[in-house]
Amino acid sequence: MANFNNYKEILNAVISQNITTIDEFLKRTQIKCTELSNFDLEQYWIKNQVEATYASRERLIIVRADLMPLVKNKAILHESGHILLGHVGNYLLSSTPVSGSNIEHSANMVSYVLLLWFAYCEHSDEITQTFLTYDELAVAYEIPADDIDYLKDAFYLVHKKITKA
Ligand SMILES: [Zn+2]
Repeated sequence: MANFNNYKEILNAVISQNITTIDEFLKRTQIKCTELSNFDLEQYWIKNQVEATYASRERLIIVRADLMPLVKNKAILHESGHILLGHVGNYLLSSTPVSGSNIEHSANMVSYVLLLWFAYCEHSDEITQTFLTYDELAVAYEIPADDIDYLKDAFYLVHKKITKA
């Protein structure tokens, strides 16, 4: 998969190529993901509230090993967003939201739409029965309320695809 301009293009590619899991997504995008196991470095990350980071040229994500699954998946998808959107460099993702940063916001959008898509793929029956509205689903996946409005189009696409299947 080549570089993309925004999260909608990434979501469209993932859906059209029928990619249904995060592992498959990383494989198809040729992004390597490794968990941080070096004790000293991990202590530094924990102290500084860093969850994950990426190296764009190497297409490499490094994520802290001790994160809860939802947090870890979000972090992996966020860093993938940086790589696929062509953000250059090596940014740190802190658990404190970076306000007013377009780069961080666009990586978060990638993370949220893909998180919802993969959640749908994994639990489509359960989710369509449990969550009646997009807002309920977003709350369950801890997506900030301020970002929900940005995602409505993408969610519609996901929902359309699921209900058609
Ligand atoms: Zn970031």
